[in-house]
Amino acid sequence: NSEVLDIVHGPRPAVVTAHGRVEARQVMLAGDVYHKLENRQLKGKIFPAMGGIVTTAPLGELAEQINPQDLAVYDCRFVLDYYRLTADKRLLFGGGANYSGRDSRDIEGELRPCIERTFPALKGVPIEFQWSCAMGIVVNRIPQLGKLSDNVWYCQGYSGHGIATSHIMGEIMAEALTGTLQQFDTFAQCKHVRVPMGDLLGNPLLAAGMWYYQMLEKLR
Ligand SMILES: Cc1cc2nc3c(=O)[nH]c(=O)nc-3n(C[C@H](O)[C@H](O)[C@H](O)COP(=O)(O)OP(=O)(O)OC[C@H]3O[C@@H](n4cnc5c(N)ncnc54)[C@H](O)[C@@H]3O)c2cc1C
Repeated sequence: NSEVLDIVHGPRPAVVTAHGRVEARQVMLAGDVYHKLENRQLKGKIFPAMGGIVTTAPLGELAEQINPQDLAVYDCRFVLDYYRLTADKRLLFGGGANYSGRDSRDIEGELRPCIERTFPALKGVPIEFQWSCAMGIVVNRIPQLGKLSDNVWYCQGYSGHGIATSHIMGEIMAEALTGTLQQFDTFAQCKHVRVPMGDLLGNPLLAAGMWYYQMLEKLR
């Protein structure tokens, strides 16, 4: 629970917190979109999208009706919804990502219409929990990795699909830090878009791009 405020580069790099510093042989920065560290090299490469998730009250027999095979589902739209039942038969439903870079203020208000459109039988269902977090979006959707200096590395940007991908990249980074660079080099060669004045223009451009693809989908 210690926030890293700075990374000191050198033969023995260090991470600096409010109360002390930790020196190491190598440092790996994997904070995704939650920090502004190493701005000089990373600024303009990754942008926050806010995703909301809700869970309904336990659904009892309705759960069996709406999802008889107890499947985890995601739809195949560009800005997708995803859902499954929890062990106590609530519907856990996520989606409706917001690309403005601002936190969603009314997660239930945003997701209830999506739930009721997907499952008309759940009209008016009580929502008991809701939360929202940021995901790091990269323009070409390819995870970004690289070296910030000889012994400081970074890996980030799974564009909302990091549950499996972050583990694959974790293995690639572990191999790289211990001397096997083959797979690291493959990803490190990928060209990434760096948006000039990313702090200012990144999220408006991202929101416009997502809107464009959503419109294409609606017209199809
Ligand atoms: C609402 C939502 C729904 C999602 N649904 C899915 C899904 O269904 N499937 C899927 O594949 N992916 C999903 N994702 C995306 C997935 O969660 C992320 O891609 C993945 O968690 C990214 O992993 P990470 O380790 O890079 O970053 P994170 O999981 O964000 O971890 C970064 C860590 O770094 C820490 N950190 C940041 N800055 C500092 C600092 N300065 N000092 C110290 N610590 C710091 C943070 O506290 C955090 O613990 C979803 C994301 C959200 C927000």
